[in-house]
Amino acid sequence: MVFRAEVIGCGIGGACAALAMAKVGGRVHVYEKSALTAEVGGWVTLGPAASTALDQIGLGEKVRAAGFPVVSVSTVDTRTGRAKSFARTEPGHRWSSIHVWRKDLLALLRERLEQEDIPCDYGTGGDPSERTGDLLVGADGARSATRRLLGNPQEPTYTGQMIRYGHCPVPVSGLPTGVLHFWSHSEGVAGYVGDDRDGSFWFSRRNADSGAASTDPDVFLAALRATQVVEVLERSEVSAPIALYELEPEGRWHNADTVLIGDAAHAVSPSAGRGATSAIEDAIVLAKALRRANSIAAALESYTEIRRPIAQATYRPGSRRQAPRVSPADLQL
Ligand SMILES: Cc1cc2nc3c(=O)[nH]c(=O)nc-3n(C[C@H](O)[C@H](O)[C@H](O)COP(=O)(O)OP(=O)(O)OC[C@H]3O[C@@H](n4cnc5c(N)ncnc54)[C@H](O)[C@@H]3O)c2cc1C
Repeated sequence: MVFRAEVIGCGIGGACAALAMAKVGGRVHVYEKSALTAEVGGWVTLGPAASTALDQIGLGEKVRAAGFPVVSVSTVDTRTGRAKSFARTEPGHRWSSIHVWRKDLLALLRERLEQEDIPCDYGTGGDPSERTGDLLVGADGARSATRRLLGNPQEPTYTGQMIRYGHCPVPVSGLPTGVLHFWSHSEGVAGYVGDDRDGSFWFSRRNADSGAASTDPDVFLAALRATQVVEVLERSEVSAPIALYELEPEGRWHNADTVLIGDAAHAVSPSAGRGATSAIEDAIVLAKALRRANSIAAALESYTEIRRPIAQATYRPGSRRQAPRVSPADLQL
């Protein structure tokens, strides 16, 4: 099917959707409200399915080289001392998880848009109500205007937790690299992953009543001072406390020619470690549905049928470990 698509938002989901749709016959135009040069902070750990999906748009290798592999997870409950570990791989997917700076991931995606001659207007914002294509893809994040245009009343709600992140250019000497460490405690969880090239990445997430900026920034560091991460704490560049929001994956995701992907449709707390991976999966599943269906409306129906149950299971606390996952076959364009 040949179609003209407009994508609102050139974040991780929107850029992947543009690249994937161009591969299946779409003539795509992207609109991004932020300037191209805007500083993008932080990093993401992408799941194995993200690598499979990025391979489909020719970027897997570059993203893996920009980041580093996270091969396993080690958890300690500091109240009981109980420790567990498991692989950060998934059946059928060739690669383990990847840890990558968000700015590097976005730069690679946006560079590829340019190489593929997919126009992206930066710094202008897109108005989802003024459209010219056959398909409008709302990849405009958790506070999506496209979602409101669809008449979906969902809005993000505060998760009850805030987070601080830190980075130090050297890894912690006493902890293995490429392993995601979690230390849970009565107020939240602290985490760390290190790499010989890229250094130490840590976070501390804890309960906070209101998500207010008045929360004492130092309380976040206490949980890390009780771990080996203390070695790099004072030398780290540290973020301010960030309030965490989530968006229930309910309400209308599409009509006959408009569809939501990524955080615009379903935003999980970073505690799930799935948001960016889900946005990338959405992009590929949407493009695949467009390739297979004989109308845009049928493709959007099929995309929602596949993606909504996965988003619902990922969103519901307690069900994440059993959450249905997209199969590698679903991610072959
Ligand atoms: C602190 C934190 C840590 C996280 N860590 C992880 C992690 O480790 N692993 C993981 O998988 N996920 C993580 N996530 C979640 C992940 O970042 C999101 O799920 C992911 O970025 C969603 O991508 P997206 O493209 O759907 O939305 P976004 O990344 O929000 O991108 C939306 C884009 O749309 C643009 N936009 C908005 N409105 C308009 C408009 N009207 N016109 C044009 N452009 C518009 C925005 O500027 C933005 O560029 C984390 C989230 C947070 C907050």
